[in-house]
Amino acid sequence: MGMPRIDGDRLWASLLALAECGATAKGGVNRQALSAEEHAAWRLVIGWARDAGLTASTDAAGNLFLTLPGSDPQALPVLTGSHLDSQPTGGRFDGVYGVAAALEALLALAESDVRPVCDVIAVAWMNEEGSRFAPGMMGSQAFAGVMSMAEIEAVRDAQGISVAEALAEQMAVFAELPRRSLGFPLAAYLEAHIEQGPVLEAREKVIGMVTGIQGKKTWEITLSGMEGHAGTLAMADREDALAAFSRIAQRLYEEIGGHDTMVKFTIGRLRVEPNAPSVVPAKVVFSIDLRHPDNPVLEHLGQRLLAICTEQTAPCRVAVKALVDAPSNLFDADLQAQIEASAKRREIPSLHLLSAAGHDARYMAPLCPSAMIFIPCKGGVSHAEHEWAEPTHVTAGAQVLLDTLLTLCTDTSRGEP
Ligand SMILES: [Zn+2]
Repeated sequence: MGMPRIDGDRLWASLLALAECGATAKGGVNRQALSAEEHAAWRLVIGWARDAGLTASTDAAGNLFLTLPGSDPQALPVLTGSHLDSQPTGGRFDGVYGVAAALEALLALAESDVRPVCDVIAVAWMNEEGSRFAPGMMGSQAFAGVMSMAEIEAVRDAQGISVAEALAEQMAVFAELPRRSLGFPLAAYLEAHIEQGPVLEAREKVIGMVTGIQGKKTWEITLSGMEGHAGTLAMADREDALAAFSRIAQRLYEEIGGHDTMVKFTIGRLRVEPNAPSVVPAKVVFSIDLRHPDNPVLEHLGQRLLAICTEQTAPCRVAVKALVDAPSNLFDADLQAQIEASAKRREIPSLHLLSAAGHDARYMAPLCPSAMIFIPCKGGVSHAEHEWAEPTHVTAGAQVLLDTLLTLCTDTSRGEP
């Protein structure tokens, strides 16, 4: 009896079946959080799990859990999964791949002679995308205690339906599911996902060991000056908000944007008032999006950036509004090494890479050793109906996930003398 093996055909068929839940005319998926389409996807995965003897449960935040029980009820469970919701014009792989791969890994384990010591649980987090209800990653944030249920339940969609109402409806549809308590101790968390970027494809690798998710800060900066006649007002007497902006922007591009190769610095929006050819600009409003994987560097750059805005403003005035402040997280180094070793054993080419996009794993990382496994997606395209992943890559990612889960759930050394 060899190691448990992923059934690539079954996994591919499950992805195709799940793509029917909210299928769009152009071959994509519109499966909003807590919608009838997502309920249909729940029915499919719950059915497949139960057929294999797994148990399904949910929690107050509408997360779905599918459990393969371990032999030691005291051992902390290993959790793996992603999300089933999609963008309105989403693809067939973002999120759903991590859930389908997790379930396939559990099915392969259940069919093998290997008996896990701890429970191995597949999870589908509620509302990762944040497209129907903002912000995203609600289920994992509730699980981690980052957002309260009161905060989450108060959020409404464009039709005025609250998360509380949508959750109550889901609970009614799946009334037979046992409720777990919200948040529970974990031994480890693994999430498989398409890369949503071009690195793996360009480097001809199939498995990405994700080192972390880069942090992000955004601001809206307003520079206020004074309107004046472009022909009569002396240069020395002007309070030109666009001139102040150009001084600030030049320093920011040089000092912040040029800090190191990891930094991502973007001024993506610029508004000039009154925006008339013969009027000295009285007001400039611009956005800054700053990202860096290293939190102390991100913090330092953020402070330096604000100082530059202040130093270069006179004779105009500056007002700063901080919008997003999401620190980076680094994934567990041992887990990354185990994923790398799993890929090596299967002779699947791999590399370490940083996730430029956010994921639920961000909120698991402070709770337990956590890591992510990326597979390539065609052209790096995601959040699009033509999103595509090769079947061989889909299988390879699930196999590496399964092999890594095996080392975690059969480790009998924990707690023994
Ligand atoms: Zn996703």
